[in-house]
Amino acid sequence: MQAFSIEIFPCRSDNYGVLLHHNESGLTASIDAPEEGPILEALARTGWTLTHIFTTHHHNDHVAANLALKERFGVTIIGPRNEATAIPGIDLAIGDGETFDFGGETVRIIETPGHTAGHICFHLPDSKVLFAADTLFAMGCGRLFERPAADMWHSLQKLAALPDETAVYFGHEYTLANARFALTVDPDNARLKARMEEVMYTLSKGRFTAPTSIGLEKETNPYLRAADPSIRRHLLMESRTNEEVFAEIRKRKDNFK
Ligand code: ZN
Ligand code: FE
Repeated sequence: MQAFSIEIFPCRSDNYGVLLHHNESGLTASIDAPEEGPILEALARTGWTLTHIFTTHHHNDHVAANLALKERFGVTIIGPRNEATAIPGIDLAIGDGETFDFGGETVRIIETPGHTAGHICFHLPDSKVLFAADTLFAMGCGRLFERPAADMWHSLQKLAALPDETAVYFGHEYTLANARFALTVDPDNARLKARMEEVMYTLSKGRFTAPTSIGLEKETNPYLRAADPSIRRHLLMESRTNEEVFAEIRKRKDNFK
């Protein structure tokens, strides 16, 4: 039997809600809390009782329902040490490399500064699942609000070092726009072109593009591919550092229409 069941559903305009349920103990975490209503519906649909919130970062679209859910269920909120004062209702502040027990399974924290200064990802090493929130999207990465590009590049390298088969859940359904942009910097990537077709089919059926995997992102996500010779050639940046190439790709996306 699998240790965990995972329920994914849309929240707000383009956020993903995710419930992580430990099958044996019944412990259930909401990965972030974008909106109370859809989370309550997901709990009703699954029959699970919410016990935890795993908060990745302080942005309102990730913590908006923290206090309401805490009042309703008395949940334990685990969140990032480096922005703990900005997390409503936080009970346990945790940082890079630290672990905690969730129904007998290990959850490990990977700090990924960039989008915010304290952003953390939650990793289940035994089940090979990663909750990357606004650090790593399908073919995308978070906007740089609080840390420079070099920091985000190093954060993304930590995620890229996980096993290829790691399932990656992310914070927003930005996949189609990300794929369109990715093709502008990595136009000769056959796997990326094929993925664009797959994404359009998935979305046309009303299905989710999450989860992705570390292996697939390494093949198709331009933000993980700053060392790729063909991307560097295309950007006329063959002699630049990976950080510089990454920064250029991120800047082009900010200006991409
Ligand atoms: Zn955010
Ligand atoms: Fe967000």
